[in-house]
Amino acid sequence: MTIASTLPELDTKLKQAHLLDTVGALLSWDEQVNLPPNSADLRAAQRAVIADVQHSAASDPHIGELLEFLEKERAQLTEDQRVVLYWARRDYNKATKLPADFVREKAEQSSRGYQAWKQAREKNDFASYAPVLQKNIELAKREAAYLGQGAAPYDYMIDCFDPGMKAAVIETLFDELKIGLVPLVRQITSSKIKAREEALRGFPVERQQTFLREVTQAIGFDYGRGRIDVSPHPFCSGSGADVRMTTRYHADNPLGSLFGSIHETGHGLYEQGLPIALHHTALGRAVGMGVHESQSRLWENQVARSRGFWKFFEPKYRATFPEQLGSISSEELYLAINAVAPTLIRTEADEVTYNLHIVLRFELEKKLFAGTLAVADLPKTWNAMSRELLGLEPANDSEGVLQDVHWSDGGFGYFPSYCIGNMMAAQLWYHVLGLRPQLEDDFARGDFTWLLGWLRKNIHALGRRYDTLALVKLATGEPLSPKYLLRYLKERYGPLYLS
Ligand code: ZN
Repeated sequence: MTIASTLPELDTKLKQAHLLDTVGALLSWDEQVNLPPNSADLRAAQRAVIADVQHSAASDPHIGELLEFLEKERAQLTEDQRVVLYWARRDYNKATKLPADFVREKAEQSSRGYQAWKQAREKNDFASYAPVLQKNIELAKREAAYLGQGAAPYDYMIDCFDPGMKAAVIETLFDELKIGLVPLVRQITSSKIKAREEALRGFPVERQQTFLREVTQAIGFDYGRGRIDVSPHPFCSGSGADVRMTTRYHADNPLGSLFGSIHETGHGLYEQGLPIALHHTALGRAVGMGVHESQSRLWENQVARSRGFWKFFEPKYRATFPEQLGSISSEELYLAINAVAPTLIRTEADEVTYNLHIVLRFELEKKLFAGTLAVADLPKTWNAMSRELLGLEPANDSEGVLQDVHWSDGGFGYFPSYCIGNMMAAQLWYHVLGLRPQLEDDFARGDFTWLLGWLRKNIHALGRRYDTLALVKLATGEPLSPKYLLRYLKERYGPLYLS
């Protein structure tokens, strides 16, 4: 073996594994967008076969040999080659260190967990779901142990979604955020000024589609390498070479699909900005969920809820929906775009209160993994925290602890990345405003190229060379801090609700 022959061999193997991943993602996209109702069995079988092939490709023992050789020659490698090697090793370990019967047990538990959660939520019956949750926590701990992370299983789970992030770091960030955010939410929600979202009714779906396409294209989404379709639960999948976004339309909730789509477009722009020839290695891959969310949230919130953005798009919006918007003033429209109303349901939350839903889930996950909270006590603790943080207490578990699907298939450690993304988005926002104070004037002319160009260069082009915290420091010159999110929420929502 030589370095000169090993590197291209590893590259070929990684390319195969990546291509198989994209095939799997495409099958899953198609399942949610196009699949005829009675074809689910065939699709499940197709996905199972592809999953097997994916696993064989990712766990090919020859990859192990190549990695071992390169690790010995590490000193001879360039910085970029080391990045590729590090992540290839991590993926290889994940593919090979879990015993086959554990993987099978986890897969079975995952589908059983989903069914149990669905039933429990329908019947408002937490007790029937509790054993599933208990088992999911045990499986997560066992998985962490197989990968040598048994001493800190919750950190292991967080790291799966947000590489390099740890519970202790998140705790410090969230504690500071909470201190500033809880009183701000109280102030805003007790304001006499209320948005009239209900005034936006009867927006024909076809015209919504036209407007949405115009907006997403204007901010830079390349429809030559991606598309947007309809699915019950919006998502963004695929890679930058072929991004698949979805949305859902409702005639009486036009802002829902518009902002949901701008959010997914933010994810899509990140994927399209990753170096396309390197998608199969860490150099062409997203850092993790936190950074991904920072990109979607930045476009959805800081950009698309700004005055400058609407200076440009309001006339077009009115031209598209003249009757629907006829009796709504510009200020009323802008307030509806920035509506704040506390809700028990995370997925319906506005951007001011959303973060408190995440803080709640993070604190509970942390305690569940530390063993200081028993699964049986989860509903009681959830409700108490909901009252403390949101000022609302669920009337039943369906609108409380049973509302999210994540834990049913063992997705612990995922929630914090939403809030990390929000903090990072706000920090990036003030940093770029410092570099270009006239940024909103750009938006008012329909020009988003400077912002996208900056993100391309300082975030997207870097792939996974840095973890979330290092990337924030590099891009903004400062460590990640919640103070920018607090500042942003005060500066955006204060003038609307507290003046
Ligand atoms: Zn997202």
